[in-house]
Amino acid sequence: MRFPLALTAKIAAYIIKHKIRGTKKFATVLQLEPLHTCNLTCTGCGRIREYSTSLKDVLPLEDCLSAAAECDAPMVSICGGEPLIYPQIEALVQGLLTQKRIVYICTNAMFMRKKMREYLASRFSKNPAEVEAKLQVLQSEELITAKDADEIRKGPKDAAKPVIAPTRWMYWNVHLDGLERTHDLIVEREGVFKEAVLAMRMAKILGYQVATNTTVYKETEMDELEAMFKYLSSLGVDGHTISPGYEYDAAKKDMIKRLNIEPENFFLTRKMTIEKFSQIEEWGRKFTFFGTPIYLEFLAGKRDLTCSAWAIPTRNIRGWKAPCYLMTDTIGSAGHYGSYAELLEKVKWENYGVVNGVAKDVRCENCMVHCGYEPTASLGLQAKPGDTWKNIRFNFGAKPKPIDEGREVHAHNGVTSGNGHLSGQKSTEPATPATV
Ligand code: SF4
Ligand code: SF4
Repeated sequence: MRFPLALTAKIAAYIIKHKIRGTKKFATVLQLEPLHTCNLTCTGCGRIREYSTSLKDVLPLEDCLSAAAECDAPMVSICGGEPLIYPQIEALVQGLLTQKRIVYICTNAMFMRKKMREYLASRFSKNPAEVEAKLQVLQSEELITAKDADEIRKGPKDAAKPVIAPTRWMYWNVHLDGLERTHDLIVEREGVFKEAVLAMRMAKILGYQVATNTTVYKETEMDELEAMFKYLSSLGVDGHTISPGYEYDAAKKDMIKRLNIEPENFFLTRKMTIEKFSQIEEWGRKFTFFGTPIYLEFLAGKRDLTCSAWAIPTRNIRGWKAPCYLMTDTIGSAGHYGSYAELLEKVKWENYGVVNGVAKDVRCENCMVHCGYEPTASLGLQAKPGDTWKNIRFNFGAKPKPIDEGREVHAHNGVTSGNGHLSGQKSTEPATPATV
């Protein structure tokens, strides 16, 4: 199976419950943004730009937990900003797990190893022999230093503080948009890819589940992404999501002003998305993509879907974002509502999405993003005969085998000067050797 049975069963039971009750609209995933501060400035990121005036604000822990309880989505994706900067991230994860949610921590991975060292320090006081064995492995793999190991052996700095421990109910969800040069270019900082790889390797040794999320832009080379997924498979990464990028208004303005890039040279139109994703169904068979094969067919241009943004709502420091994760309307409290119920009731959902090739809102025209269209597929809202069987085979069938040849991928394939799209020296070496 692509996704652990207990987690799949939990999501299936939740959907069936709502179908039996006849609930028309309900949340499947909550995108929880406890803050918008980030340690990076990725080129296409709308968040740090749209919320640039409130980067210091954080959503109180109680509000985060009550948002999850209110919308009751079985999965909560903690995003942001960078969620590992949130001062109470450990308590938030613990609180969501106590609510029996499946938790994704969407991170750029720069602080992951620190959080895992804190977990090890806490665990050391309970089971030193087990942790000592792990420390030996981590040191031999150069994932921690001798000094790190000594710090861990001293135990936690604050024994009362929770830690982020491995559990089958939680995934690290690492943002990766390409191999080293491309990723570092997009995140506008050198060394981020390298750190993400170290963090994912450490996480797998410690028994965490690791997923990745990838956004595709116009400049994305799909051959490179294929090599990246092979590489990730060889690292033992558990699964992936992939989505075309969305042309955030705020990101477009930043691009023109700061980088002198025309947005149409960075973001994809619908037609370009379909061209880019022409091989995605085959990738779905080879790599452990999460989700449904129906959404992959949509990306490949083989079928039409309408948007169900209400199923993946976003709660952030300003409220429940309307109408979707991607764009913010100027109705309601400037596009943010006080509760999920109010969001469901007040947003005129029929005014959004693309239906029969016609954009209901001009801002939806080029959108084929996961958070709008995957729920349409997973909830069977436009099901065709055979879809149920396709979904069962995709999700309950054998998980794609690890691709050992991914070890040969030339993943660390060049560096930028740390200025992202303002500069960059492309490696002369190919991303993949001829054998891959
Ligand atoms: S890491 Fe995420 S939140 Fe931070 S700038 Fe990049 S895309 Fe935005
Ligand atoms: S089509 Fe995309 S941009 Fe439009 S409402 Fe749906 S998710 Fe949002």
